Amino acid sequence: METEIRQVKGEEGRQAIAKAAEILGRGGLVAFPTETVYGLGGNGLDPQAAARIYAAKGRPSDNPLILHIASRKELPPLVREIPPMAERLMDAFWPGPMTLIFRKSACVPRETTGGLETVAIRFPSHPAAQALIREAGLPVAAPSANLSGRPSPTTAQHVAEDLGGRIEMILDGGPVEIGLESTIIDVTGAIPLILRPGAISLEQVRQAAGDGAFDPAILGKPDAGLRPRAPGMKYRHYAPKAELAIVTGKPEAVAEKIASLAAEKQRAGFRVGILCPEESQGRYDAALVKTVGTRAHEETIAHNLYRCLREFDQEQAEFVFSEAFDEGPMGEAIMNRLVKAAGYRILPAGGGDEKIP
Ligand code: AMP
Ligand code: MG
Repeated sequence: METEIRQVKGEEGRQAIAKAAEILGRGGLVAFPTETVYGLGGNGLDPQAAARIYAAKGRPSDNPLILHIASRKELPPLVREIPPMAERLMDAFWPGPMTLIFRKSACVPRETTGGLETVAIRFPSHPAAQALIREAGLPVAAPSANLSGRPSPTTAQHVAEDLGGRIEMILDGGPVEIGLESTIIDVTGAIPLILRPGAISLEQVRQAAGDGAFDPAILGKPDAGLRPRAPGMKYRHYAPKAELAIVTGKPEAVAEKIASLAAEKQRAGFRVGILCPEESQGRYDAALVKTVGTRAHEETIAHNLYRCLREFDQEQAEFVFSEAFDEGPMGEAIMNRLVKAAGYRILPAGGGDEKIP
């Protein structure tokens, strides 16, 4: 299959979106930009479209999809009830990078929800995503538009690398704004439970809804005996080809340890990468030093993280050493992705102050 890539800007963009909506209407697949990452969209009410999404991504079909809507009016038919805490969260954060888990209504097929009785729903803020969903007149099921196990795509080029030839169309809206997937919040229980950290922080959730907590299973290693409530969290996501390790501790000690680990691997003939913030880039001289962003604005780190991981793959890095980025409101989300990408390899650098995520 030939994958058509179209820009979303201007009059041509409007035509591209109209064509994309038509593709969705007849059961096809279209990747599109959102404010978080690029999504791979299909008709959320069509079991066959769901099957095609799983096949295109190589994703296990027990890993449920998120339904995307373009107005709050589209929510009630998809769910059995809307708890008051959900109303408060939607008032505060929709449209935006927040997915809510509700009890599903009968019209949502189990093929879309990975067999679950609950359904994940998001109202994205990206204008092209909204236009596409509105024109299609459907809830659009859309997981991240990457091959399963690869970092989520933050540009149309990333989508083409992974899914070119497997889907009908890619809408190109340039690099996305946030760069990490949405915060997923289960609102079917007594309090809002964060199943996946994202740009909306626990603090913000508590402020809007009066309460909130993390699913305890997502805070430790997956083999700690707790089963994450978001099925996707149990897979080793976001995996670069290189062996990635995160070094934690005081800045001086971290820089020293990373430099010495990198030198050791380089002496042994390996291609070595280092992932660091602007603040410490001058401390390293390995072959592939990537500056992911600045600690002063941790959203820059979220924005560039997946691109950097993909670049290490392209440049065939065999070992990558990364600093930890756990400060600020997005620290939880950044470390959640980075720790998984590292397969939970966390090396304390000594010098005290070690925080094992
Ligand atoms: P992605 O769209 O690739 O970011 O993945 C969506 C993730 O949302 C899945 O991997 C699940 O972990 C989570 N999810 C979707 N639906 C549900 C649900 N009904 N209950 C819990 N988690 C869900
Ligand atoms: Mg994904």
